[in-house]
Amino acid sequence: MIYSSILETVGNTPLVRLERLAPPGVNVWVKIEAFNPMGSVKDRIALAMIEHAEQTGELSPGQTVIEATSGNTGIGLAMVCARKGYPLVVTMAESFSIERRKLLRYLGAKVVLTPAAEKGTGMMKKAEELAERHGYYMPRQFENAENANVHYRMTAREILADLGERSMYAWVTGSGTGGTLLGVGRALREASPGTRIVVAEPDNAPVLGSGVAQTRDERGRPAGSHPHFRPHLMQGWTPDFVSDLTQGAVDAALIDEVVPVNGDTAMTLSRDLARREGIFAGTSAGATLAAALDVAESAPEDAHIVAMLPDTGERYLSTPLFGDIGEDMDEEETALSESTPGYRFDGQASPAPAPEAPAADPSATAFVESVVRDEPVVMFALEWCEFCWSLRKFFDALGVRYRSIDLDSVEYQEDERGVAIRQALGKRVGSPTIPQVFVAGEHVGGCTDVIEAYEDGALPDRFGAADIAYDEEASIDAWSLMPQWVHPRKTG
Ligand code: PMP
Repeated sequence: MIYSSILETVGNTPLVRLERLAPPGVNVWVKIEAFNPMGSVKDRIALAMIEHAEQTGELSPGQTVIEATSGNTGIGLAMVCARKGYPLVVTMAESFSIERRKLLRYLGAKVVLTPAAEKGTGMMKKAEELAERHGYYMPRQFENAENANVHYRMTAREILADLGERSMYAWVTGSGTGGTLLGVGRALREASPGTRIVVAEPDNAPVLGSGVAQTRDERGRPAGSHPHFRPHLMQGWTPDFVSDLTQGAVDAALIDEVVPVNGDTAMTLSRDLARREGIFAGTSAGATLAAALDVAESAPEDAHIVAMLPDTGERYLSTPLFGDIGEDMDEEETALSESTPGYRFDGQASPAPAPEAPAADPSATAFVESVVRDEPVVMFALEWCEFCWSLRKFFDALGVRYRSIDLDSVEYQEDERGVAIRQALGKRVGSPTIPQVFVAGEHVGGCTDVIEAYEDGALPDRFGAADIAYDEEASIDAWSLMPQWVHPRKTG
């Protein structure tokens, strides 16, 4: 398949039958929205809302777009805005995962955080404030009819087309903005009226299950938090108010059943999806599947049930979903490591015999000497080395000018000159490791040595003695610049 824009790859996600997690005699199908280009169902609405606003003239060329979003809509909008050339601002409660913020910024968006205590309402209000002050276009995903329309036009049609002759017993979804629920729900009522429409929600926040109506202001917008809302684990589901679109689904009597789902069960099922079906999806996906399996228990023989899996699991690395996934080797992995002699951490390894060192190349030795003599601050480095990146960040933070000799760069590739220089350097300092730093002709050492010399004052003294300019006022937590996996404060 070829495409003239990434935007053409939105939608048409696969419907996959679960083999191992479904109970015998029931077909459970999952619609894997992680196949969208930015990994979530929200790519669909991002594209639809922006293109609709272009058509109606609400959005003009180059105008800034702003939206309040827990992340996936923002990430979808960031992709669409990047391709179409609109600046994007996203407001987001500080409680959502760090990966989401970073992804947005990576895609060129600005992220304005709002206090967690102000919940979903706070991020909405902030977006409205900013839109009004600066004249931004706000898609308003919680109210925008296109959010539901695109699911009516596309998502529902895809499911129905893929199921073909199979009759759908139940369709299961969660509800965040309610766009998926309202759009697919409407289409199913028309085209597949026998299908049960099941909405899952967090068991500790039974906003729909309680049957208590949302209070609304004179314009019909939600006024304040719903009394049954509590913070829950399913990011993207059940904000602290019943949105217009979700209310639309309630009013149209689209919901046949509300299934409460426990947060731990949701996370267990997300992991089961990964480990037993090889399907990598987020927490709300596990939660939707939990409700689908609940429905499956009392479903007739050979029933077909479809569950929505809204996004990729990669968006949750810093959340409780990955809470018990360790960084270091556990007992079993250590035992496995120690079951063969090489490449071990316990000092018992029998390393391969060191190859005989070739004689140093005199021109490389001369090069090292001349650089050490002539450069006030020099670092012999490798482009890919994380410790070298750490030192670059450190010198930049300290405002020190330095020269970096990147031995693996194109410049030093001819005739393996970088290798020869590295050998000469190794002989000079008595260690084969990189980076190696020299200040005013004197060897300081590797990454850790430099940071220790900074902390005990030896490095500033050397800078002072050699008249090397640096920011004397800077207070740098140098260890925090080191690669996370060697961060000494973390491990000890
Ligand atoms: N799960 C995740 C991870 C989401 O980001 C969202 C959207 N906020 C949903 C579920 C719910 O989808 P919808 O907004 O269409 O109700």
